[in-house]
Amino acid sequence: MRGARVVVEGLTKRYGEVTALADIDLEIEAGSYVVILGPSGSGKTTLLSILGGFAHPTSGRVLVDGRDVTFDPPARRPTTTVFQDYALFPHMNVGRNVGFGLAMRKVPREERRRRVAEVLALVGLEGAEGRDVATLSGGQRQRVALARALVVEPPVLLLDEPLGALDLKLRRQMQDELSRIQRTTGTTFVHVTHDQEEAMALADAVVVLSHGRIEDHGPPERVYLRPSSRFAAGFMGDSNLIEGRVVEGPDGSVVETALGAVPWGSAAPDSRVVVSIRPEHLRLDGSGALGLGRAEVRERHFAGVYQRCFVRVGDLELLVFAPPTMRISPGDVVPLSVDPTDVAVLPQD
Ligand code: ADP
Ligand code: MG
Repeated sequence: MRGARVVVEGLTKRYGEVTALADIDLEIEAGSYVVILGPSGSGKTTLLSILGGFAHPTSGRVLVDGRDVTFDPPARRPTTTVFQDYALFPHMNVGRNVGFGLAMRKVPREERRRRVAEVLALVGLEGAEGRDVATLSGGQRQRVALARALVVEPPVLLLDEPLGALDLKLRRQMQDELSRIQRTTGTTFVHVTHDQEEAMALADAVVVLSHGRIEDHGPPERVYLRPSSRFAAGFMGDSNLIEGRVVEGPDGSVVETALGAVPWGSAAPDSRVVVSIRPEHLRLDGSGALGLGRAEVRERHFAGVYQRCFVRVGDLELLVFAPPTMRISPGDVVPLSVDPTDVAVLPQD
């Protein structure tokens, strides 16, 4: 099976006074894994429902491989949805749950049996056809829901918080499996979540949504390292956000902040800006090319792969992830530094 390309143009959805989606434009490449990331109420489910045909937009349209499907019913469009609660049929065994879509499409029994077996193997439930769904664990139900959606070989699979009901460890394990399954099938996956780690682990492209608007859209590395907005910087992981002002100097523009001047080569987004520095990029051993003054360590918490520290520089309190082996204690005064390439400068709003 091959994934389809999805294009959304000028999509707006209003529920009375509430604007759930505000003029969204989005292009999703065929065969890519796209994650829609945003807090509760940001419009994720609304967007997915419109892609799947369960809701109609107030204005705008949805194209799949160039075809306008905006008002096509769910069964007549090249999408399949995996709902948050899985919605398995409790009175049917695993095989009949998974084969349901094929039976509806009048696929002959032998082919049905073969395709159900194949897709169960794909999701790691080989031979589970005869199991009663009531006896399955949460992770197994999740796999059955996924198998039931994949068996009809949809060009586009829509997943609404598919791992939300699973505990953290199983969640991380299922993420690896989803990624493998997506690569195996080549289906376009559109996956909604509020979990930024999940987004980074899975996505070819992340779409950051807030109040029905796209705040950022791009490969997770880029969105993480160079977020386009203050919201995206704060939602895609922890960040130190420091207000500043762009000033033209003799060697190009710099941003003046409470930490001193930060060089800024690119065109300034505005004169009033926010400097974003990730906690793992702040250094307490003087090894960064740009010195930011002396910092007093206020708190230190061991977190396994790093030490989570709060340091104070002047009036600023900053979060720093220091290497786990670094010897550091509250009360220490250390040189704070960063590499200029690890600094992002964003518009202030
Ligand atoms: P998310 O999935 O990101 O949590 P939703 O898409 O469910 O967000 O909701 C976006 C906004 O639209 C919220 O303010 C929500 O209250 C509102 N909304 C969603 N569905 C409806 C509806 N059927 N009727 C009225 N308001 C709705
Ligand atoms: Mg939702």
